[in-house]
Amino acid sequence: MQRPVRFSFGYYLAMFAAIFLLQSMLFSGYKTKEIAYSQFRSWIAEGRVEDAVITEGKIVGELKEPEEAGKPDGGTVSPPSKQTPWHLSTLWNWITRTEAEIEAARARARAEEERHFTVVALPDPELINLLQRQGVEYRGKVESKWLSNFFLNWIVPFGILFLLWGFLMRKMQQGPNALKVGQSKAKVFEADPENRVHFSDVAGVDEAIEEVSEVVSFLKEPDRYTRLGAKLPKGLLLIGPPGTGKTLLARAIAGEAEVPFFSLSGSDFLEMFVGVGAARVRDLFAAAKEKAPCIIFIDELDAIGKSRGHPAAPVGGYDERENTLNQLLVELDGFDERVAVVLMGATNRPEVLDPALMRPGRFDRQVLVDRPHREGRRAILEVHARSLVLGADVDFADIAAQTPGFVGADLANLCNEAALLASRDDHASVEMRDFQNAIERVIGGLEKKGNFITAEERRIVAYHESGHTLVGHFTAGADPVQKVSIVPRGRAALGYTMQAPLEDRYLRSRDELLGHIRVLLGGRAAEEIVFGEVSTGASDDLVKASTIARDMLTIYGMSERLPNLSLMHQSETSFLGKGSELVPHSAEVEQAISAEQLEILAAQYAAAKETIGKHRDELETLATRLLAREKLESGDLLEILGARSA
Ligand code: ADP
Ligand code: MG
Ligand code: ZN
Repeated sequence: MQRPVRFSFGYYLAMFAAIFLLQSMLFSGYKTKEIAYSQFRSWIAEGRVEDAVITEGKIVGELKEPEEAGKPDGGTVSPPSKQTPWHLSTLWNWITRTEAEIEAARARARAEEERHFTVVALPDPELINLLQRQGVEYRGKVESKWLSNFFLNWIVPFGILFLLWGFLMRKMQQGPNALKVGQSKAKVFEADPENRVHFSDVAGVDEAIEEVSEVVSFLKEPDRYTRLGAKLPKGLLLIGPPGTGKTLLARAIAGEAEVPFFSLSGSDFLEMFVGVGAARVRDLFAAAKEKAPCIIFIDELDAIGKSRGHPAAPVGGYDERENTLNQLLVELDGFDERVAVVLMGATNRPEVLDPALMRPGRFDRQVLVDRPHREGRRAILEVHARSLVLGADVDFADIAAQTPGFVGADLANLCNEAALLASRDDHASVEMRDFQNAIERVIGGLEKKGNFITAEERRIVAYHESGHTLVGHFTAGADPVQKVSIVPRGRAALGYTMQAPLEDRYLRSRDELLGHIRVLLGGRAAEEIVFGEVSTGASDDLVKASTIARDMLTIYGMSERLPNLSLMHQSETSFLGKGSELVPHSAEVEQAISAEQLEILAAQYAAAKETIGKHRDELETLATRLLAREKLESGDLLEILGARSA
């Protein structure tokens, strides 16, 4: 690419200097000292003035040599020398015409049908007399204005425009700060000692920390690794769901690694100006190479790293993001292996990233920052509870057990909610019940106050939730019920039953999935048994149950009629991602799936009804207690239902 000439700072300086020089040459013949007109006149009268040049507006005079004239003025004007002769200038007194003269001029103009007339002001006629009397040599001079006019009206404005243009050009192409367009926004992250994040602040992601700190040690002592011929890893990509602590982990690295840390977000590269993203990438890497060893961290990498040729990309058009990505790939390849710069990225959408980014030599290490396990959740809670005043009864292991699926951000929020609730209720410390309420609040949303549901509706909800609870308790594969509530909440509608798996699970057996469906259908089953009719309250349950049933058949190959069939299509375009489209399939297959889905739902509904029918008394007890107390915890449930038979 051809680059326009660069205008350096020195260039501007020279230009300004030239302008000033030209100006002073044009406008001031001599160095003069300005004095009062009265002073000037009195010096003429005293015979000190050698000569005078009268121009339009001012008089410039030269004093006689001091031997002839003596000290010109009690010392206020320093004595003349060869370099600075006594040039004095003064504005002469204008003698304007009298009213009568002006009127005459006007009349003359009218007579000649002119609209404009001029009244010329004249220099003080007495001055001329005085000069003549003193024998001062005097002269009049009409200053030619064209040169200065030319300069003022043409050169100066054009010069300013030209300078501005040069300035803009410069900013556009190499980028720096003033316009904030081209330059990389990366800042060397100065971990401020107050808010410094340490690895100990990031809990529950020990594997990720291990992996990441290994990279940090590469940077600190590269020789240890290159000694045996190994190449330093270039790029490390943190992948994981939102809120699991990827950004936090990067900040911890900045705090722990004693190397410069450039941090910026993927969207910082993108502006409305074409070519800016690529320029920023170039700048960033140039700066990083200078500071090596160092770390570059690009958060939300998917903003630029989206797969090229993605359906969302404009067809055939120029795509700024794609260009930026290309530049990033080029810079990654251009890295000298011995330059200790490690690129780190974070994303929660690895499936959209361009496969080229993940090639060896680029982001060649992927670190999964996953949802924390139970133990991890406990550790994260402990981190965030450091700043809280805790009650003696707070059991983080218990809270962790009740919060499957929560990520670090949720747990941080949970701790804060608990503290807010405790403050609101004027507790001396944050107690276990505050955490319990906070969990419900985070899961279900705010409690709805007021009697907006009728007593009859409340009864239906109580039996519905009791149905879930009962079926959950008596179904072998189902997760145990932790609590059940009929307090209406923002999101969870009229009531909810919370089940928590005893362990975080990655694999589920067919029986467990069926058990889950049965519990979901337990609510409606109870309504039907008790009231003889069903309500809309079960709609959410039905969606979930139907989805599980269908997933069993189309994803997990758990069908009896179409065993081991998966209809998922693994898309080739993305490297890590699982394309989530279903492959096209025949109407017969679809029919078989639908039929089996219906069978599964029907069988589990029947099983749920059977369980409830068998334990009808317990259902009554549960519902009555719920109506009285609104919430039941696992202890109450054990008391009513007995130990789980499973
Ligand atoms: P993301 O993975 O989306 O970048 P963040 O790092 O921004 O998530 O996490 C948001 C907040 O959640 C953090 O500032 C921190 O308070 C909390 N958090 C998330 N993960 C953890 C963790 N593993 N340990 C401690 N706190 C965490
Ligand atoms: Mg983040
Ligand atoms: Zn329900």
